[in-house]
Amino acid sequence: MDKVINLMSDTVTKPGTAMLKAMMSAEVGDDVFRQDPTINRLEKLAADLFEKEGALFCPSGTMTNQIAIKVHTQPLDEVICDELSHIYQYETGGYAFNSGVAINLIKGNNGKITADQIEAAIKDDYDWLPKSSLVVLENSCNKGGGSYYTLEEIATISALCKERGLKLHLDGARLFNVLVETGESTAEVGRYFDSLSICLSKGLGAPVGSLLIGDTDFISQARRFRKVMGGGMRQAGILAAAGIYALENNVERLKIDNDRAKEIAEILGQCNFVDDIRPVKTNILIFDIKSKYDVQELLKKLKENDILAVQFGPQTIRFVFHLDITKEMMDRLKTVLSQLSLPSRDFNSSRISAARS
Ligand SMILES: *Cc1c(COP(=O)(O)O)cnc(C)c1O
Repeated sequence: MDKVINLMSDTVTKPGTAMLKAMMSAEVGDDVFRQDPTINRLEKLAADLFEKEGALFCPSGTMTNQIAIKVHTQPLDEVICDELSHIYQYETGGYAFNSGVAINLIKGNNGKITADQIEAAIKDDYDWLPKSSLVVLENSCNKGGGSYYTLEEIATISALCKERGLKLHLDGARLFNVLVETGESTAEVGRYFDSLSICLSKGLGAPVGSLLIGDTDFISQARRFRKVMGGGMRQAGILAAAGIYALENNVERLKIDNDRAKEIAEILGQCNFVDDIRPVKTNILIFDIKSKYDVQELLKKLKENDILAVQFGPQTIRFVFHLDITKEMMDRLKTVLSQLSLPSRDFNSSRISAARS
């Protein structure tokens, strides 16, 4: 058993024995010829969950988002989204490279934008302006500290998009972390979006894979773009089997991860080096440390205790909770955090950084 408490992301999870067994016994075929029964089963399962006509298994969530942008837009269009969105922050500017579109960023509330903000952002129809054609929401929002939209908020945005002729895509990399909190169903969510992307390789614990979900026309175009992006896989049913296992076994337990993020936030609230903690809504915990302390110093101290986390800004750290964190690890994490003391930056180094700025 790993003793390292790896909170760097929920992508660090490794397949357990039961998932590996499902992978080893998967029936496979060539998926480019649509002959992989396990992939076909996973795609059907996902489409049914969201009450859409089809789904497409892809290697990553970056690919599913990029394909969605490609299908929903023409070059010279623009995508409207929050400034913290994964499609803007962490997909290498792929919207411009793959689709030739501009991006119209909205400053939201911890990653969440409102229908009013979107309405104000939609551009009028002039030759010299990019054409607003797609809105992308992220639920939960990673850089927003795991914040989420309720169905009511989504419904209002969806109605606006319909009225104004814009498509609506959901980057639902961690959607299930939201649904275990709200009790809302996948079918209800599916109704409001033209397409949805969900990740199997985050909190759900599969080693690889994301699903792009939508209606028949959308999926058949998406399939062509997956191919040109190099994402047409062959006997990938081995991976799809892990995805089926994840959807059937690892959804409900996500509530544990969400609750653990809240528990640790409470402990951090007692630590003298901690400044702002973003409201904890799901399995992501983002916090700042006071300016007299150094993030690298904190990460080093954590690492000495076999705890790994990532820097998420100049004074910011992110912890992500997931299924490979055991009860024992939680106890140890709590003990380490409540006993941790950090040296404040020394006089000399603060003078040097002041001189530099
Ligand atoms: C992880 C993630 C993705 C996709 O990431 P991949 O690493 O390409 O699978 C997309 N959106 C959000 C919000 C994510 O957290």
